[in-house]
Amino acid sequence: MIVRTTDYYKDFECLAGECPKTCCANWNIPIDRATRAHYQSLEGAIGEHARSVLKGGTFKNKDGRCPFLLENGLCSMIIAAGNQEDLSFVCRTYPRKISTFGNDQYISLSVSCPRAAQQLIACRKMSFVTAKTNEPPQMNSIDPALYKKLTALRDDCIRIVRDESYSLSKRVETMLREVEIDINDISIEKRFTKLVRAFLRMRYNDKDLKCYFRLLKNHDRLQSALEQAEVAAEKHEILMENLLVYTLDRYVLEAVDDGDYTSRIKLCLHWCMMFFLILCDHYAQKTSLDDAKIEALIVDFSRHTEHNDTNLRMLMRAKHII
Ligand code: SF4
Repeated sequence: MIVRTTDYYKDFECLAGECPKTCCANWNIPIDRATRAHYQSLEGAIGEHARSVLKGGTFKNKDGRCPFLLENGLCSMIIAAGNQEDLSFVCRTYPRKISTFGNDQYISLSVSCPRAAQQLIACRKMSFVTAKTNEPPQMNSIDPALYKKLTALRDDCIRIVRDESYSLSKRVETMLREVEIDINDISIEKRFTKLVRAFLRMRYNDKDLKCYFRLLKNHDRLQSALEQAEVAAEKHEILMENLLVYTLDRYVLEAVDDGDYTSRIKLCLHWCMMFFLILCDHYAQKTSLDDAKIEALIVDFSRHTEHNDTNLRMLMRAKHII
């Protein structure tokens, strides 16, 4: 199999007990069918504990935390077994998103993980590397012509977005022209008002982000944020380029299921535009924005918006923003 990752993927290491925002709290961790079956026969205290906290397809959280998460941020299931074999698929693989199409596998690191967010922030230019493994190809029923078209389209979009010879906003315009998405002829203010409304329709585990978006709905607050767009664009062009490449890399190929790449590209742009607005708002509110703060913002934003299929579908279908 040919495995494609970002070049910094090889340096990823979970921060474990040092993580400022564990991935084992504040959301429901899905336990896949095979792991649920494994727990039914798992012997010892861990097996008993797993059976007692399993509820449908997840573990019942205790005070918002996974029932296996220890105070020191480590996982009692891993400590008991000395390995990760009893973990569910998502616990073994997070923060990796792994998509396999026949002989091609794509692995990206979700920026909902602080370490992955740090890596993206520190990256000067996001690039991809491929490696050959001994894994056999996976059978699938995807349309090979569509798959080929989508990989070429994703690569073209990423090539345009990474071209530093002109501004990021011009690169986005070029990309949209290339993929034949018409840009709505509306004011920037209307565009972002619609964007904030779309984000307000989404579902959040935690109310804080939604409350924050409610503030942005206020005309004056939005206006002052947009007045900082030039400053934010200049200061964070590399970050925004990386985030756009990150989303294009993760979502465009998902169109193999239905051919609708236009909606996936819009999803990427909607997501990045909203994060850009958050940066602008921080300038308007004069909140300090060092790398640690940006990392925390990206992690929260990704956790509440990216890891929910309903939210992603809403962002795909949000109309009249671009
Ligand atoms: S969020 Fe990332 S760094 Fe933190 S515990 Fe999870 S995988 Fe490790």
